[in-house]
Amino acid sequence: MQTEKARCIAPTGAKRTRFREEPAYEEGLWDLGNGLYAWMVPNGSWGESNAGLVTGDGASLLIDTLWDLRYTQAMLDAMAPIFRDAPLTALVNTHADGDHFWGNQLVDSHVESVTSAAARAEMDLHKPASMLAFGRLGNALKNIPFKQISSVGHWFSAMCLPYAFDEVIHTPATETFSGSEWREVGNRRVQLIEVGPAHTTGDLLVFVPDAKTLFAGDILFIGSTPVMWAGPVENWLKALDLILELDVELIVPGHGPITDKSGVRTVKAYWEYTSGAARDYYDKGVPGLEAAHRIVESKDFKKHAFATWDSPERMMTNVHLLYRHHQGHTGHLSTLAKVNLMRKQALLAQRLPDSKPTMMRREDASL
Ligand SMILES: [Zn+2]
Repeated sequence: MQTEKARCIAPTGAKRTRFREEPAYEEGLWDLGNGLYAWMVPNGSWGESNAGLVTGDGASLLIDTLWDLRYTQAMLDAMAPIFRDAPLTALVNTHADGDHFWGNQLVDSHVESVTSAAARAEMDLHKPASMLAFGRLGNALKNIPFKQISSVGHWFSAMCLPYAFDEVIHTPATETFSGSEWREVGNRRVQLIEVGPAHTTGDLLVFVPDAKTLFAGDILFIGSTPVMWAGPVENWLKALDLILELDVELIVPGHGPITDKSGVRTVKAYWEYTSGAARDYYDKGVPGLEAAHRIVESKDFKKHAFATWDSPERMMTNVHLLYRHHQGHTGHLSTLAKVNLMRKQALLAQRLPDSKPTMMRREDASL
């Protein structure tokens, strides 16, 4: 299998993940062969996002930056020896979530930066101030002596703890495209394929046909529960089918370990199961919040491999979005609606004490 060829050539040496879990694979720069690299961040939880690098003759293209400057700088430093022969000439952001573009300010402004037009528009809705406020809200709620409130505060604050958002300057990509676009990286061609709205409004894939490799962004979460902020789920499933039809052997997901088409099938199984279960509850008139609880706490859900994935509480947001589409609502969730969904996720997380990351759901786990 192609995935066996990939190896970590510049490990960060981190003994624990950002959420103090045992790392399932090494953090750092991985050589994928064929002039391709990935920056891998175990275990793929909140902000533990992967990035990619495609090199050609005298040029290279970076796929995504990270959630804050410290982590992005560590990645760029590890890539510096590669940039000596193949200077960075382009940056692609796979979508508008901060953990895929908030490090953009560290990339030289002469480097062309590109994303889909839909992602570019959404980037303006995701500014660092919102995560700073989210973390501060968490710190305030954490100290309120009511269990339900303090545990939500704990979950919010633990999510932000590994990151320094205060140094981030909003630096969205400057060039856009819609549909699909080929780009030259030195002597090779890379295809950008817009597949959103799915995870977010403007998701895109980066396909390197000569190496049968795909950088999937957050269309793929491996070993970590996917979260749908935009949808509809049909688009997400269509994107997964498109990947299955491509001539690819090695896939770098937005979160989680390097995979192949078998990983795509696991994510497809999650969405088929989740959308089917949510549809049944919707048709029976069960409110979304209750449906999400019932699904993840059911014996049937627990029979599936995806029940052991990181952050199963994301089911709350997923069911909410599925219900929203059944009701005919589309368009962006407001910031307030998102925070409310995060609050409900935090409450569901408390009911799943054996899930990961432990640090976010256990107040006795020291911060
Ligand atoms: Zn992400």
